[in-house]
Amino acid sequence: MFFNKALRAGVQTGLRLQSTNATASAKVAPKASLGFSFELTEQQKEFQELARRFAREEIVPVAAAYDKSGEYPVPVIKRAWELGLMNSHIGEDYGGMGLSIFDACLITEELAYGCTGVQTAIEANSLGQMPVIIAGNEAQKKKYLGRMTEEPLMCAYCVTEPGAGSDVAGLKTRAVKTGDEYVVNGQKMWITNGGKANWYFLLARTDADPKCPTSKAFTGFIVDADTPGIQIGRKELNMGQRCSDTRGITFEDVRIPKENVLIGEGAGFKIAMGAFDKTRPPVAAGATGLAQRAMDEATNYALERKAFGKSISEHQAVSFLLAEMAMKVELARMAYQRSAWEVDTGRRNTYFASIAKAFAGDIANQVASDAVQVFGGNGFNSDYPVEKLMRDAKIYQIYEGTAQIQRLIIAREHLGKYKK
Ligand SMILES: Cc1cc2nc3c(=O)[nH]c(=O)nc-3n(C[C@H](O)[C@H](O)[C@H](O)COP(=O)(O)OP(=O)(O)OC[C@H]3O[C@@H](n4cnc5c(N)ncnc54)[C@H](O)[C@@H]3O)c2cc1C
Repeated sequence: MFFNKALRAGVQTGLRLQSTNATASAKVAPKASLGFSFELTEQQKEFQELARRFAREEIVPVAAAYDKSGEYPVPVIKRAWELGLMNSHIGEDYGGMGLSIFDACLITEELAYGCTGVQTAIEANSLGQMPVIIAGNEAQKKKYLGRMTEEPLMCAYCVTEPGAGSDVAGLKTRAVKTGDEYVVNGQKMWITNGGKANWYFLLARTDADPKCPTSKAFTGFIVDADTPGIQIGRKELNMGQRCSDTRGITFEDVRIPKENVLIGEGAGFKIAMGAFDKTRPPVAAGATGLAQRAMDEATNYALERKAFGKSISEHQAVSFLLAEMAMKVELARMAYQRSAWEVDTGRRNTYFASIAKAFAGDIANQVASDAVQVFGGNGFNSDYPVEKLMRDAKIYQIYEGTAQIQRLIIAREHLGKYKK
C-alpha cells in the first residue's frame, strides 16, 4: 500500500490540481495562464507512471492467458488494490484517496492498455460504488465503502434486466415494503462482477402504478450479496473482455432492511442515472487505452514488416491508417479529459460525458479493426495481440449506454441549449 499512502498524503482534488497547474504555468509563460492547461502535475504523472508500469509489467504478460481461460484475474486485481490503483475515488473519510474523476481516468486508461477485461472488472467496482458515493448517508458509506478499502472486495451495479437495458423505465424487478424491510423479486442480467461482488447496488420498482413518473417509480438499494434468496447465474461467455465476470442474478423474496435504501423511496432512477456522469468519463478513458494499445501494436508492426522491398509503414496507405489512428486516439483522450474535468469542477457534464463515451467507444472499434488490417493475416490470429483488442473493443459501444443512447443524450442536450 506504499503508493496508496503517498497518494493520500499528497494528491489533491481536480480543482486544486488545476490551480496548481495554473500557478506552475504562470511562472513559465504568464500569457498562457488562463485556467486551462494540458500539463499534468508531478503527482498525476507519478501515479500515471505507476499504473503504466503495472499494466505493462503485470497485466500485459498475462492478458492473453486470462482471455483464453476466462478465469477471473484475482491476483492482478489484488495487486492493483495493493498499489492503490482501485477505489481511488472513495473519500478519505472512508479510507480511500478521494481522487478526482480526472485522476481516476488517468489510471483507468493505463490499466485498459494492459487488458480491458481486467479494467472492466475494476471499473465495475467504481460503477457499483458510485451510487453510494453520490447518494449514501454516513452510515452506508462507512459500512459499504469502508470495507472496500480494508480488503480487496468487489461490488456490482445491478440495473439491466433480460427484458430492459436501454429502456431503464421498463425494469420489472419489484421491491415491496413490508414493515421495516423491502421484499425484492425479479431478475437482473449482464451484471459485471455479478459472481464476485460482496454487495450490489440494486435498482427496483417500488411504485406499481404505471402512471407514476419514471423519476419517482424506482428505488436504489444496497444489497449484501449473501442475502438469502439471491441466486447467481452462470458466467456468460462473451465475445471479448472474457476474464471479466458477467452474470444474470435472480432475486427471490430477498429481504432488504430499510436502512439500505439510498436517499429515500422513489429516488433510485436519478441516482442510477446520475452515477453515469462520473463513470462514463472512465469508460471513455478505458476505450482510449485500448485504442492507444492497438495503435502502438500496429505502428511497431508496420515499422518491422516488409512488403515490396520496404517497410509497410512506408506505403502511404498504411501510414495514413496510422495517422487516422493517431488523430482518433488524441481526440478521444481530450474528450474524456474534458468530461472528467467538467464534473470535477462541479458542473453538470452529461453532454461531455456522452460525447466522450460515444466517441471513444467508436474509435476504439475503428482503431482496433484497422490494427488488425495492418497486421494482415497475422492480425486475424490469436498469437498476435490485436484480434483480442478488436473483440474487447465492441463492448464499449454497448455497456453504460449504447452508442445510440449516447447520441440520444447528446442530441437532447444540444437541442436543449438552442430551445432555451
Ligand atoms: C459484458 C456486459 C457487461 C455489462 N455490465 C453491466 C453491469 O455491470 N450492470 C448493468 O446494469 N448492466 C450491464 N450491462 C448491460 C448493458 O448496459 C446493456 O446491455 C445496454 O445498456 C443495452 O441494453 P440491452 O442489452 O437491453 O439492449 P437494448 O436496450 O435492447 O438495445 C438493443 C439495440 O437497440 C438500440 N436502441 C434501444 N433503444 C433505442 C432508442 N431509443 N433509440 C435508438 N436505438 C435504441 C440499442 O442502442 C441497441 O443497439 C452489461 C452488458 C454487457 C454485454
